[in-house]
Amino acid sequence: MKEGFFRPREYHRPNNLREATWLLSSFGRKARLIAGGTDLLVDKPPEVECLVDVASLDLNYIRRDGDGITIGAATTLDVIERSQMFSAGPYVVLSEAASNMATPTVRNMATIGGNICNASPAADLPLALMVLDSTVRIYGLGGSRVLPIGAFFEDVNKTALDEDELLVEVHIPPSPASTGASFLKLRRHQTAIDLAVVNVAAKLTCSDNFCEDARIALGAVAKRPIYAEKAKRLLTGKALDGKLIQDAAEVASQEAKPIDDIRGSAQYRGRMIAVLVKRALKLSVTRCET
Ligand SMILES: Cc1cc2nc3c(=O)[nH]c(=O)nc-3n(C[C@H](O)[C@H](O)[C@H](O)COP(=O)(O)OP(=O)(O)OC[C@H]3O[C@@H](n4cnc5c(N)ncnc54)[C@H](O)[C@@H]3O)c2cc1C
Repeated sequence: MKEGFFRPREYHRPNNLREATWLLSSFGRKARLIAGGTDLLVDKPPEVECLVDVASLDLNYIRRDGDGITIGAATTLDVIERSQMFSAGPYVVLSEAASNMATPTVRNMATIGGNICNASPAADLPLALMVLDSTVRIYGLGGSRVLPIGAFFEDVNKTALDEDELLVEVHIPPSPASTGASFLKLRRHQTAIDLAVVNVAAKLTCSDNFCEDARIALGAVAKRPIYAEKAKRLLTGKALDGKLIQDAAEVASQEAKPIDDIRGSAQYRGRMIAVLVKRALKLSVTRCET
């Protein structure tokens, strides 16, 4: 239980990244960025005295060039869900994750930057971005730096951001031909506002059923979203058949370290990870072939 009340006394709308980082560094722990507010205004951290809005920072964009796709941190999830950029190839995994997230009203306000930076172990978009080998660009007083998204998450609600830093954009590199990906999520009551009991994203690059490369990302089974590295190694360089996919799903389940909580027991989560990974791999194989 958090002590005290959430009563920010200051609201700032900086016009550029420098101004934003200056505000963040001046107020330290007492400042918090706000994007859609769908996490922050539910969480209501009592230590926060100053809100720094990302709305005027021009971070609402999706751009495609020869080097892949770049998404500004303030892009809302409904825009990602409906974007043509994520309607084909392995990129559909991102629109699937977005459309599985909350209700249209929430998606209309919630941003990709907020979903990543809140660092919930059960968040949906990070898994899709992880299997797509995305990187995040961070900006702070010391300038800009880039991290693989898997390295951005450190613990429950804890990221690699320093106090003066913010997330600027996410970059998704091009995937090889014949790559398919998918996202699946199990909710407790299967209602739109339920967070995941477990969620999974998978990506396979395969030709003639031979797996050249694989990624599997798991949510709600550790303190942060994780890659199932052993399952990836089991699949890579082998002919894909039902047995191999089943074995990989079981291995992924063993890599998960779930806990008991209100949404499910650790044992149930472990079993459901195996089920979802198996289904996500099968779906990804069919998508490699199209
Ligand atoms: C009813 C309901 C249902 C939900 N269902 C789901 C769900 O199914 N799946 C799911 O994943 N989430 C869900 N959420 C959580 C939430 O909607 C998402 O995490 C959302 O994407 C957060 O984005 P936001 O823009 O609202 O973030 P905000 O609330 O504005 O910010 C969240 C955190 O990120 C920080 N932040 C925001 N932008 C940046 C930035 N550019 N750089 C650095 N830090 C930043 C903020 O300071 C804050 O700490 C749900 C929320 C609600 C209220």
